[in-house]
Amino acid sequence: MLKKLFKSLRSPLRRAKHSHSTPEVLSNHQHPIRRGQISRYATGIVERLQKAGYQAYLVGGCVRDLLLDIDPKDFDVATSATPEQVRAEFRNARVIGRRFKLVHVHFGREIIEVATFRANHPQGEEEENSNLSSRNESGRILRDNVYGSLEDDAQRRDFTINALYYDPGSERILDYANGVHDIRNQLIRLIGDPTQRYQEDPVRMLRAVRFAAKLDFEIEKHSAAPIYKLAPMLREIPSARLFDEVLKLFLAGYAEYTYELLVDYGLFGQLFPASAAALKQNPDYTDQLIRNALANTDLRIQQGKTVTPAFLFAALLWPALPARVLQLQERGMPPIPAMQEAAHELIAEQCQRIAVPKRFTLPIREIWDMQERLPRRSGKRADMLLDNSRFRAGYDFLLLRESAGEQTDGLGDWWTDYQDASDSERRGMIRDLSSKDDGPGAPRKRKRSGGKRKRSPSGEGAARPEQE
Ligand code: ATP
Ligand code: MG
Repeated sequence: MLKKLFKSLRSPLRRAKHSHSTPEVLSNHQHPIRRGQISRYATGIVERLQKAGYQAYLVGGCVRDLLLDIDPKDFDVATSATPEQVRAEFRNARVIGRRFKLVHVHFGREIIEVATFRANHPQGEEEENSNLSSRNESGRILRDNVYGSLEDDAQRRDFTINALYYDPGSERILDYANGVHDIRNQLIRLIGDPTQRYQEDPVRMLRAVRFAAKLDFEIEKHSAAPIYKLAPMLREIPSARLFDEVLKLFLAGYAEYTYELLVDYGLFGQLFPASAAALKQNPDYTDQLIRNALANTDLRIQQGKTVTPAFLFAALLWPALPARVLQLQERGMPPIPAMQEAAHELIAEQCQRIAVPKRFTLPIREIWDMQERLPRRSGKRADMLLDNSRFRAGYDFLLLRESAGEQTDGLGDWWTDYQDASDSERRGMIRDLSSKDDGPGAPRKRKRSGGKRKRSPSGEGAARPEQE
């Protein structure tokens, strides 16, 4: 399929020398994109802006993806009109962003993002324009609202394959950065000097990995080389932006491969420092658990099922818990409070890097708490757990832990059977539990020592992640 498409991507008649201002132009015979493949709202916006006298094109991921026969996730428009001018054209438009002003044009649930052509502004020139653009001392762009020409706009985009402009009227593609060449050769290549472009915006390192995984492309060697060294720059990125980026990394259907690349390029540890430490301490188990969680996520996305970021974060952080629990216990804290405290600290620390919203951190805690409750099944407890709204997530999480090699004494199978069992079978299963002497799920024998209730650290097997 790809081959066929690449064949239809015939070489442009007019091959520009590598000049910044002369694009290669692909007429509609030289590429397979037809305007019918594009959201009619997006073509409508482009036409409306053109009619009003502005330049306007479809740009970025949608052109790239259509050339690769992938359904675009969204449609982005680039135009010579300023955000205010765009807003004046559409009643359903809102200007958003500060670092980077954009217009969102709303059509029911579909949002088309319209960005004004921008220019790269060389370091050192910011002062005169400090209200429009600014950088910090490491070269990171803090504000980027210097508008420019179409040619300028192409040069400030991240990768060559993202700097293709499509005009739905003429069905022509303008290629300013040899993006079509890189699509053919399946390469992710930064436009300009890679180190400088990563310094301007370190998130481009995550984007490189994301597109490499999504498209199954290589990161071109000069674009790949600086990543490992520059990875620590991700610490400068606001945690809220990183949360959005992490969701894009892991919820696009290629999470397992994305994770592999993140680890290889030294980016994973910048996003999840505690999980990276667990990977060092307990590599096989941690890697297996994270991979299984991500492979599962990919499968669910492929099947059109929902995935919750809470489950994902719960899995990514779980292998980091045992070391923390141990530390707290060594300082004299009893196991259960140590587990609670470790969970609290770990999530709080993670949120400093990646701002996971409360609506997800609460369920993470609930999924973890459920791991402590699932082994305790006697009396009416099993039925009460089944009725708990977090049961399903907790049970799935238990199976995930088992799949990574945690020993739970068959707890996952027990719960699988219990869910399928009739009422009388269930009663039998509970009776069997209490008849087993201290077997998994047997009623806890409470010992008192020093006036405090004490539980063995590994409790009834499944209460905590396994220590090595
Ligand atoms: P997808 O939408 O499939 O994730 P995309 O390439 O469309 O991929 P967006 O985040 O929607 O990605 O951005 C649209 C376009 O804006 C990109 O194709 C790229 O040209 C440009 N862009 C986005 N983020 C950056 C960045 N950090 N630096 C430079 N250009 C960027
Ligand atoms: Mg896009």
